[in-house]
Amino acid sequence: TIPISLVFSLLCLYIVNLVKTLHRSLGYQLKVAVKRGELIAYYQPIIDAQTGYVVGAEALVRWIKPDGSVEPPGRFIQVLEESDLINDVTLQLLKNIPIDLAEVLEQSPQFRCSINLVPQHLESPCFAKQLLELKGKGFPCDQLAIEITERLPLKNLSQAKMNVEKMKALGICIELDDAGTGYGGASYLQELNIDVMKIDKLFVDTLIISPDRTQVLDANIQMAKSLGMQIIAEGVETSFQSEALVEKGVRFQQGYLFAKPLSTAEFIAFWHESHQA
Ligand code: C2E
Ligand code: CA
Ligand code: CA
Ligand code: CA
Repeated sequence: TIPISLVFSLLCLYIVNLVKTLHRSLGYQLKVAVKRGELIAYYQPIIDAQTGYVVGAEALVRWIKPDGSVEPPGRFIQVLEESDLINDVTLQLLKNIPIDLAEVLEQSPQFRCSINLVPQHLESPCFAKQLLELKGKGFPCDQLAIEITERLPLKNLSQAKMNVEKMKALGICIELDDAGTGYGGASYLQELNIDVMKIDKLFVDTLIISPDRTQVLDANIQMAKSLGMQIIAEGVETSFQSEALVEKGVRFQQGYLFAKPLSTAEFIAFWHESHQA
């Protein structure tokens, strides 16, 4: 008879290989998709909850399949992040911002659009250099924000710091994404000269899940304020949350209460509506 542990080991090996093959093939599909321009940005509005105006947007990648279906990044973002493809995709999204949002950027000089970066973008000088070149060609860096996530570790903080300084010098706003959920914490805040703290949905959720246990949310808000940072609250889904946040002094908000990530055309229409009201 075959020992059960051997059967188990073989089964595990089989599953690991299967997952690897699937990953590889998703990687291949993505490579083709990037070449064909199927990866584009959707834009989620950022609202001033006190006035109702759209003050900004976050660019979020979507895969538009040949059949027209729209796939959010949940299934593929990790594959992008773990390969060089993330560089092509980010650059492509970046270049499209002033084209997609031309009308908005022109009519509201205060409007900022943010884009999500991965550690690679900060740890090598390439991305900052590309931004410098784009600025030379008229890219509106003063209307751009970069989001640095705490979800992924930065291996070389001093290198990142140098590149972030270069981007800041171009007028780019530096935001800490997923604040309080991951690696960097206070060291990122201190070292990376962050302008804006994005408070994660996790903490915004506590307002409804356990309203008497919002200490971490409050502490994050306090920390951002005492460091002179602006705050954007993410994942705001109810007007109760929105009002509670405004009471705590957090007027810039993003979430399904206002809008999901929208296609360019939908976003422009949403922006017009917000400014007519
Ligand atoms: P994130 O940067 O934290 O982005 C916010 C995510 O929360 C988005 O999911 C957004 O659609 C979702 N969201 C916004 N408001 C609400 C809400 O009220 N309720 C709920 N339940 N969800 C809300 P999405 O677009 O699926 O993106 C998932 C993650 O993928 C992002 O999380 C980000 O980490 C990553 N990602 C997305 N686009 C890019 C990109 O272009 N580059 C990189 N490097 N990462 C990206
Ligand atoms: Ca983000
Ligand atoms: Ca976020
Ligand atoms: Ca998040």
